[in-house]
Amino acid sequence: MQKIISLAKRRGFIFPSSEIYGGFSSCYDFGPLGIELVENIKRSWWNRFVRSRPDMVGISTTIIMSPKVWQASGHVSGFSDPLIECKECHARHRGDNLLSESQWKKLEKKLEKAKDKEKLIALSLPSCPDCKKKNYTLPRNFNLMFKTFVGPVEDETSTAYLRPETAQGMFVNFNNIISSSRKTLPFGIAQIGKAFRNEITPKNYIFRTREFEQMEIEYFIPEPKNEKEWQKTFDYWRKEMWQWIDFLGIKRKNVKENDIPKEELAHYSKRTIDFEYKFPFGTKELYGLAYRTDFDLKNHEKMSKENMKYRDPKTGKEYWPHVIEPTFGVERTVLALLVDAFDEEKMEDGTTRTVLRFSPAIAPIKVAILPLLQNKPEIVKKAKEIEKAILPFFSCDYDQSGSIGKRYRRQDEAGTPICLTVDFETLKDNTVTLRDRDTMHQRRVDIGSLKEEITKIINKD
Ligand code: ATP
Repeated sequence: MQKIISLAKRRGFIFPSSEIYGGFSSCYDFGPLGIELVENIKRSWWNRFVRSRPDMVGISTTIIMSPKVWQASGHVSGFSDPLIECKECHARHRGDNLLSESQWKKLEKKLEKAKDKEKLIALSLPSCPDCKKKNYTLPRNFNLMFKTFVGPVEDETSTAYLRPETAQGMFVNFNNIISSSRKTLPFGIAQIGKAFRNEITPKNYIFRTREFEQMEIEYFIPEPKNEKEWQKTFDYWRKEMWQWIDFLGIKRKNVKENDIPKEELAHYSKRTIDFEYKFPFGTKELYGLAYRTDFDLKNHEKMSKENMKYRDPKTGKEYWPHVIEPTFGVERTVLALLVDAFDEEKMEDGTTRTVLRFSPAIAPIKVAILPLLQNKPEIVKKAKEIEKAILPFFSCDYDQSGSIGKRYRRQDEAGTPICLTVDFETLKDNTVTLRDRDTMHQRRVDIGSLKEEITKIINKD
């Protein structure tokens, strides 16, 4: 991880937030390369799951919504983690992180009945990971939603929350979507946007942060008559998620499915599969796929008193549609990509080449333009002309500082799939050298066919 973190900082992928003030609370900024990567991920996701599908529409809803939304969804009463404090060193831990989730669930049940709760905690939990002593407080439920006040008065009546998930924005707009887009079931609503969770122990770099971005789909299906009916759509989305992982270029061997046991399912879910990635700090959730039943629409109807049912245009029957929810975290995608693409290649001369082997489709910079003799004005002029011609179509980096070897290494570290070198031959025959990042193979290409050549490389996956 240390190597990835330092590369990400050095090359401008990820910076600690407010760094000049010592950073802030597990917050991170995306630098110039990071934001290009993020934009490529989001754009590809949107094109794939929204724009190219007749059964999907997009939406963008507010971060601050009516507090009633979070009452109806169960977040006000139930979106909490068990907080335990070490009385010795005052470190705060998530109880369910000190044990496995199922062990914790069992312990919670025992705690309800136990006479000497503190003794049971001491017997059941391992020592504090920070100070190695064992002297804990009793667990208390800590709500993960960030609170704020809307308007000038700071009291109960003006309390609002920053959304902890984008999903509810889709549910509360269900009727608006039906009446404005005339979609019929099955169809989905998709959204990309920020979510906030006041995590007790944010950690592992950008894996668990308090502010992050989600790409979520709520896919509405007719009321299923039996298990098979919703399983079919569930399996369809499961395959779609694997194909998205393939598109990103993340190796399948590093991802595994975790079918969550019934007793560990969230209150709204009848089935959840976590797609877990083999991160250097452990195999952990990358994406999730959940069958949310009709929980959300039903509860919003109860709370808002608005009819949230769907009227079948053929039969006239009214019912709450059921929902399959594929959800994807942007930051976790970036982290998995960095880990998956990171490679240190031993060279024949004994040196090591650090390469980010991003799939060309999502690489932040597609083409680097490197004038070979950077002190020759005619070569620089030609290189600039090429940059100008290519820039409208592909993200480019122009680099004329240092030896060509160093410049290649810099592009390898950024994951740039194509380097173009401009030299005296270019002036004579209008060709450039095209170097492939992975094979380091070089060939001459006519400037006139550059656009076509680059497009071929970028779309080859
Ligand atoms: P975890 O068990 O890791 O806390 P979760 O099951 O609570 O995650 P979901 O509620 O399913 O997560 O959120 C959907 C997606 O949002 C996750 O699959 C993940 O990619 C992303 N995500 C959730 N929490 C965070 C966080 N604190 N930081 C970054 N990404 C997150």
